[in-house]
Amino acid sequence: MASYFEEHNCEPTVPEEQYRQNALLELARSLLSGMDIDLGGLDFTEWDQRLPPPASKKIVESLPKVTVTPKQADAALKCPVCLLEFEEGETVRQLPCEHLFHSACILPWLGKTNSCPLCRDELPTDSPEYEEYKKDKVFVYEHRVMGLHESWLQ
Ligand SMILES: [Zn+2]
Ligand SMILES: [Zn+2]
Repeated sequence: MASYFEEHNCEPTVPEEQYRQNALLELARSLLSGMDIDLGGLDFTEWDQRLPPPASKKIVESLPKVTVTPKQADAALKCPVCLLEFEEGETVRQLPCEHLFHSACILPWLGKTNSCPLCRDELPTDSPEYEEYKKDKVFVYEHRVMGLHESWLQ
């Protein structure tokens, strides 16, 4: 089975990326255990000091519900938030990035912020300010990545 990272041609082992991914998943798990965390108060230096706003309610409501296939169950596919293996025939939610989650795991998370806790793929939000900001951010991000690549080549 080709891994997610191979398909998307990105690098899973950059420590900083790994760290951020784990941090997001930790946050998602805290939500699950009923901790009411204030995401806005956390220091995610590179994200303009805070997490983006919640995902658009409309988008969240329209997330496809998919049924876990025997193949996925056999592959011991897990919900990234609670780490329980999906069971064959179980109905789960699929994000646009194709990551699967239990509804009970992903819905509270998307009510707090708009990105997949696994890959940080962002969903649209209901916040016009953030959507504006995101346009600039993508621009800045691309420049930063280009800069990084250049410094690796030297
Ligand atoms: Zn779960
Ligand atoms: Zn994802």
